[in-house]
Amino acid sequence: MNPINDYAEIVGSETIDELKEIASHLEGKIVQNINSTAVGGGVAEILNRMIPLLKQLNVDARWDFIKGGEKFFEITKKIHNSLHGINIDITKEEFNHFDQITKDNLANMTLNGDIIFIHDPQPIGLIRAKKQADFKEKKFIWRCHIDISSANPNTFNFLKKYIELYDASVFSSPLFSKKLKIPQMLIAPSIDPLSDKNKELDKKQIIEVADRFNIDLNKKIITQVSRFDRLKDPLGVIDVYRLVKKYIDCQLILAGGSADDDPESVEVYKEVLEKANGDKDIFILNLPPTSNIEINAIQRMSTVILQKSIKEGFGLTVSESLWKKKPTIASAVGGIPLQITHKYSGLLSRTIEGTALYTKQLLQNSEYANKLGLNGHEHVKNNFLITRHIRDYLLLFIKVQYNKESIIYL
Ligand code: UDP
Repeated sequence: MNPINDYAEIVGSETIDELKEIASHLEGKIVQNINSTAVGGGVAEILNRMIPLLKQLNVDARWDFIKGGEKFFEITKKIHNSLHGINIDITKEEFNHFDQITKDNLANMTLNGDIIFIHDPQPIGLIRAKKQADFKEKKFIWRCHIDISSANPNTFNFLKKYIELYDASVFSSPLFSKKLKIPQMLIAPSIDPLSDKNKELDKKQIIEVADRFNIDLNKKIITQVSRFDRLKDPLGVIDVYRLVKKYIDCQLILAGGSADDDPESVEVYKEVLEKANGDKDIFILNLPPTSNIEINAIQRMSTVILQKSIKEGFGLTVSESLWKKKPTIASAVGGIPLQITHKYSGLLSRTIEGTALYTKQLLQNSEYANKLGLNGHEHVKNNFLITRHIRDYLLLFIKVQYNKESIIYL
């Protein structure tokens, strides 16, 4: 992990000094993060980078996980999809199983934080612990990474009875929130510019990764990096590639993987392989979770990057791509429009045909493509780096812990 002072090179030393000053108000307090997986997906990506940096700022940040079997994670995946507005009904028996696993976790976990920071729906029920007499002083925050604006009402109502027991909630965008009785904070996610996933790479490293996967660096490359998940629409990306390929000789990289709490990925991966049908210019890379340098290199060798999600939380992959100054075409869903202003810092699309048309345009007009990439990089630098995210979280913790308004305006 880089020393926190290294970030001064990117965001200025004043920003780092300010983080140290704000963090000093949390001395002696434990911030316990809880989610359901250490690897795969944006939440794990952020926590992996955030926890060590908070520790360097002398905040006693910890990270624990809930446990659950296959059935639990099948149910939580259904909950995830139906919160995104996909038409799925969850049965009473499934909700009961969810509650039972929550109780099992409560019996086996130590909740030792002064602030208990719960991420996403899987561990949401841990708030039941708040009833305990010795937990009265503890503050509980629920961090929602999902766009719940069009959530299935049944699923949302089930969760709402938990959400409203928290001291505060956090959403990524004003567009995602719902009417709730508890305070709501709006904090966008972030990427770490110094992580293996995002740091500068030299040409040799990029060539090495291309050679390892037999990718031809002399031919244009379209890429999507995403878990193999239907909501990321990898099959739609293949359709886009096939439309473009009629006119421009290019390659497609679908770099993906799985998350421990996502049981669907094996099936989706198979569907993607089938649809690619042995095309030598399609590279379907099912990568282990440690493949940060590989993903970094793949993004950097790409000519155009897509994020053709049907639904999206924030879409960290978009910030990762823009940070690397890559022309990016993404669906106008979830948090993506926060990251891309159409025709300024990337292109927003809604259909396979539209995405194909824009992809052709960017593959043919490198000057325009480069300009979009440069503007995207500036936007990410100003809004979606981990230093801004840490600042927002520290202020949130202070607000919840001490109910101090003034410090919010430091
Ligand atoms: N990612 C990865 N390996 C993969 C697929 C994705 O490391 O095979 C990373 C990706 O680079 C990003 C995160 O997982 O950092 C995905 O976050 P995002 O918000 O885009 O989507 P989520 O998976 O949380 O829905």
